[in-house]
Amino acid sequence: MSTSAPFHIAVLPGDGIGIDVTAEAVRVLRAVERAVGGFALTMTTHESGAVCYQRTGADLPEATIDACRRADAVLLGAMGHPDIRKPDGTELTPQVTLRVIFDLYAGVRPCKLYAGAKTPLTGLKPGDIDLIILREQTEGLFASQTGGIVLGDQVATDTLVMTRKGIDRISEFAFQLAEGRRQHVTCVDKANIFKSFAFFRKVFDEVGARHPNVTKQHAYIDAQALHLVQKPGKFDVIVTENMFGDILSDLAAGLIGGMGMAPSGDIGDQFGVFQPAHGTAPDIAGKGIANPIAAILSAGMMLDWLGQRRNHPQLVKAGQRIEQAVAQVLAEGKTLPVDQGGSATTQQVGEAIARFVERS
Ligand code: ATP
Repeated sequence: MSTSAPFHIAVLPGDGIGIDVTAEAVRVLRAVERAVGGFALTMTTHESGAVCYQRTGADLPEATIDACRRADAVLLGAMGHPDIRKPDGTELTPQVTLRVIFDLYAGVRPCKLYAGAKTPLTGLKPGDIDLIILREQTEGLFASQTGGIVLGDQVATDTLVMTRKGIDRISEFAFQLAEGRRQHVTCVDKANIFKSFAFFRKVFDEVGARHPNVTKQHAYIDAQALHLVQKPGKFDVIVTENMFGDILSDLAAGLIGGMGMAPSGDIGDQFGVFQPAHGTAPDIAGKGIANPIAAILSAGMMLDWLGQRRNHPQLVKAGQRIEQAVAQVLAEGKTLPVDQGGSATTQQVGEAIARFVERS
């Protein structure tokens, strides 16, 4: 089979366990490139993150931003360290800066329960949870980022911003996502209290009218937190505001085995950055026991996204192959990471998944 021009991936391992899990994601990408064939990947590594800031004064150097801009996709580990902060005391969040620079408005966070994963819920079968939290990422309560105001050490404000453009495009993204899945979208808001969320719901409904084949549902954020725990199998695509999405996606990750199991893609109209939903986990950094599955599944999402955009079936197939291999390793149960009740190191889990990729 002919190999088309290579796709270029900018790899940003970042800090803490980001470095360990990214190495395993790259290992699996190399394995799937060999196993599936029909495409080639060039991968270049670039510095970023809290340690980079400490050394160079920049958490996201210009050269790294340029490399991301030139790449077909970006694979990111995790960034930040609680002990390395900006002069104003706030933490470094270059992964959030990337969302702004590249207008990555859609935070796509799939949550799927695999056989062998450690869910705290009882009575669930693999596949009983298969949903996507879609988080709006450019506005909402994160609109001002660190630009809130503290008045006289007495009053503090942060402004929640909703725009028609922002709601329209995230809702459209949700409906298109659902059309390729089980055709069901839940809009999560607090429209009973806030004008901004009533507006979110109104624009969501307008966009929904353009998608008559998709079932629509509304839920308030507080009730949705309850529903996610009590009946997670009822949901397909859940679309919501930035802060609500931040919280709900961690809750959903908890249902499928924790942060080590939760992949994500930060997607815009031109760029895509793929990273595990977890942070740098300073409590386990350097111990070699981080679960690399979230990072590996994120690499699979990256290939799928690239394949869909470029109409390249081999890339889509490669993305699916990665997910199948993850499911096989978990179901087999011989090489489980520590957070899923096993004793395998980060590297051993990555190697096992790479073996399944090449075997299947
Ligand atoms: P951030 O604010 O950047 O999301 P955080 O410190 O709030 O970071 P995480 O770094 O995601 O959160 O860690 C939360 C918890 O989940 C920690 O106890 C951490 O050890 C655990 N954890 C996160 N990622 C993994 C992983 N890949 N494997 C095992 N445990 C993980």
